[in-house]
Amino acid sequence: MKILVLNAGSSSQKSCLYDITTPIPNLAPQPLWEGKINWTQDQNQAEITVKTATGAKLQETLADDSRQVQFAYLLSTLINGTTKVIDNLSAIAVVGHRVVHGGEDYQEAVIINEDVKQAIAHLCNLAPAHNPAALAGIEAIENSLGNIPQIAVFDTGFHSTLPDAAAIYPIPYQLVEQGIRRYGFHGISHQYCANRAAEILGQDLQSLRIITCHLGNGCSLAAIKNGCSIDTTMGFTPLDGLMMGSRSGSIDPGILIYLLQQYNYSSQELDNVLNKASGLKGISGVSSDLREVIAAKDQGNQRAQLAWDIYVHRLRAGIGSMLASLAGLDVLVFTAGVGENSPGIRQAACEALGFLGLKIDADKNQHQPIDVDIATSDSTVRVLVIETQEDWAIAQKCCQLVQQ
Ligand code: ADP
Repeated sequence: MKILVLNAGSSSQKSCLYDITTPIPNLAPQPLWEGKINWTQDQNQAEITVKTATGAKLQETLADDSRQVQFAYLLSTLINGTTKVIDNLSAIAVVGHRVVHGGEDYQEAVIINEDVKQAIAHLCNLAPAHNPAALAGIEAIENSLGNIPQIAVFDTGFHSTLPDAAAIYPIPYQLVEQGIRRYGFHGISHQYCANRAAEILGQDLQSLRIITCHLGNGCSLAAIKNGCSIDTTMGFTPLDGLMMGSRSGSIDPGILIYLLQQYNYSSQELDNVLNKASGLKGISGVSSDLREVIAAKDQGNQRAQLAWDIYVHRLRAGIGSMLASLAGLDVLVFTAGVGENSPGIRQAACEALGFLGLKIDADKNQHQPIDVDIATSDSTVRVLVIETQEDWAIAQKCCQLVQQ
């Protein structure tokens, strides 16, 4: 069965085509085709890159076209030219979409109909960088592929098991009733990593207390017990919790009141400050990319050093908080861009957990471990580096839903 997966972000649209055989494998197979549209600063210009399992590659820049045209072009590379992998778009059985916010009503993967589209649109104000992009992808597929079944998989879904004490903010109860609560995000990745951790260790997921650290441009932690999310650091929006690339994470809400009252910040300015001008970028003044912050720190840049120190401090504090929710720990998982690639961050986070008897093997940690346990044999906690496979997790869910 051929499944096309779309993963829409604010400035990019990643897509891949899997050919899935049954029984559905646990491990991600190589996609037949991977395509990406990157929108540059002036949002009309699209850089399109495509690669196939057979090694064919294509790179194009399309200017002054609508996103519909750019998307149709990307799909045409599936059936034309050197990157052709299928004869006709009708060979695609189903299209799966990563949708960041599913609100209170959508927890499981669902076949998209008008009601689902309306719900995704309704939640755009809670995930303004992501839900509109997912909706645009759904509509682009309708235009190009007609009535093909489309499935939404929600990043909030995995956290629907949060107990009330973890999900509900201590605010007036009427606001809670209006849906203001912790939803949590990166759920597709946290769930995939928990399953994969149990598989790598050859243990029953139900028996493990796991903390998953998804550290990419956006960062979040999840506490997972009996295979369910019981606590997480992101909240009502993906702005809460850890320090991120350009997002502040949790700060005293009194700061917002102060900025509004003393400096007349508009809501747009607050949004910009907290989502785009904070985090590693805001403190270092160098970049939101940890690699560049590390390079500047290593050259003696004091603000880059401070950005690193705050990032590590907050990561450790977040892990401590998840640890208390779990009342113990069997497995610590690092994933996403930073988690998979930065030995220094893993080392710094683990150092603080030495009192638990958690120990990592410095050599294993250094050598680009992927889907590997980097803890020493006498460590009381297993420490895994797992390559997150959100697209594959979406494809698996689509396949299961179609089979049902
Ligand atoms: P997204 O959240 O957009 O999916 P990724 O999971 O791809 O992002 O993570 C991107 C981030 O990973 C980059 O901004 C960069 O900070 C970080 N990163 C990638 N490679 C390294 C590395 N070798 N060392 C430190 N950080 C890295």
